[in-house]
Amino acid sequence: MATKRDNTLKLKFDSARKLSPAPESRSSATIRPRYDLFINGKFEPSSGKKYFDTINPATGEKLSEAAEANAADVDKAVKAARNAYEKCWKKMPAKERGKYVFRIARMVQERAREFAIVETMDGGKPIRESRDFDIPTAANHFFYYAGWADKLEYAFPNRTAKSLGVAGQIIPWNFPLLMASWKIAPALATGNTVVLKPAETTPLTAMLLAEVIQEADLPPGVVNIITGGGSTGAALVNHPDINKIAFTGSTEVGKIIQRAIAGTSKKITLELGGKAPNIIFDDAPIDQAVEGVVNGIFFNQGHVCCAGSRLYVQESVMNDVVRKLRDRIETLIVGDPMDKNTDIGAINSKQQLDKINKYIKIGLGEGYDMYQSSCVLPDRGFFLRPTIFTNVAQSSRIAQEEIFGPVLTIQSFRTDEEAIEKANNNPYGLSAGVWTDKGSKIFNMTAKLRAGVVWANTFNKFDPASPFGGYKESGYGREGGLHGLQPYVTF
Ligand code: ADP
Repeated sequence: MATKRDNTLKLKFDSARKLSPAPESRSSATIRPRYDLFINGKFEPSSGKKYFDTINPATGEKLSEAAEANAADVDKAVKAARNAYEKCWKKMPAKERGKYVFRIARMVQERAREFAIVETMDGGKPIRESRDFDIPTAANHFFYYAGWADKLEYAFPNRTAKSLGVAGQIIPWNFPLLMASWKIAPALATGNTVVLKPAETTPLTAMLLAEVIQEADLPPGVVNIITGGGSTGAALVNHPDINKIAFTGSTEVGKIIQRAIAGTSKKITLELGGKAPNIIFDDAPIDQAVEGVVNGIFFNQGHVCCAGSRLYVQESVMNDVVRKLRDRIETLIVGDPMDKNTDIGAINSKQQLDKINKYIKIGLGEGYDMYQSSCVLPDRGFFLRPTIFTNVAQSSRIAQEEIFGPVLTIQSFRTDEEAIEKANNNPYGLSAGVWTDKGSKIFNMTAKLRAGVVWANTFNKFDPASPFGGYKESGYGREGGLHGLQPYVTF
């Protein structure tokens, strides 16, 4: 029989879900039917004349198609980048280089609305996220690194930083424009030229960025953007005239890249997978912590390498936290990513949805308790209800492997030592979260957690001035901040 509390909650949830639709207008963005490669300042078809479709994961409809670069195209792009590096970019006064990067930053900002719409349509993330986080943060990275261009002697005191040459940069689909800015901005600021390859499911904002770069009058060849899948990425990695590889993506591909460049002089940074622990102590502000957990794993469909996908709760507040979490996810709005009220958008691709569902099956097969919100999913596109597993064993595959979806595992702990032991007992080490009222506990935990970033009483906070990167199988090297300049220079 439904209790009074159940009825009150039901009313609350129903009214949350009954918000009138508030879709963002698509009119300020034009998506062209076809995108060519951006090489040496011009758009041109691939030499194999092949194109691949990019679809809207919220509807399954084709949005556009992008050229598939083969090894000959990669070679052409690398040659253009080398030529631009030798003849122009490395000789240009740093102050002038900085002006170009500032120009890109301002133009991204001016076209922010268009970028946000295209990002959401191509990738499936809620417009609120692309509008309020992805695009402004991408512009901020260009602004931040533009500022460093003529100040490298302050970044590296008593040393003369020299650029490396041509950087090959490969990025994933979860933050397409933001990852492009993380990679391109520090490379240009330090005097390198670039060949960037976006992910095959989300090429569109990178191609919009190519338009911006062309309009910004960047010397031809300084930035080249080539689209394609894994084989295009592999051709870039294996090109003999590349000086540096910057890769963000899966640990599996990261290992392939590491093997491919072994024995060469190529420098490398790898930002790979994650399985972040979020640790709630009994003295934490519980409501705030629950909101942080939701933000950390559900608001972004779990499509974040640093997503807080493992929750550890101190035993005495376990029931309270699980109850509040269940109540909160029941209010989350899952659906049209273009709607400004949507909390959880579309899963990026069918392949990714299948992978997440496979892990849910594994969790159920291993006998853990699962709870999913009762919301109604759209009848087309790739969507998933926010999912929680409780009573999970530490050794379970769902607690050990990266799922990259809105799936949270929950375990309890009694002491600080147990929390540290469990949190560190994982192959990854990208990020972690600690929720407690005690500053001393925060310092104790941050010193012992093997994670590149530890957030205290907050989660998923980013700033261009702050470095980001991992331990263990989460990769190495740092991006962002002063640290992010280092991988692009030599002394
Ligand atoms: P995800 O699981 O996040 O899609 P991937 O590692 O598969 O991550 O892909 C990240 C990026 O790496 C994409 O741009 C993809 O095309 C590229 N990629 C895939 N395989 C290779 C490879 N063998 N060499 C270089 N790049 C690759």
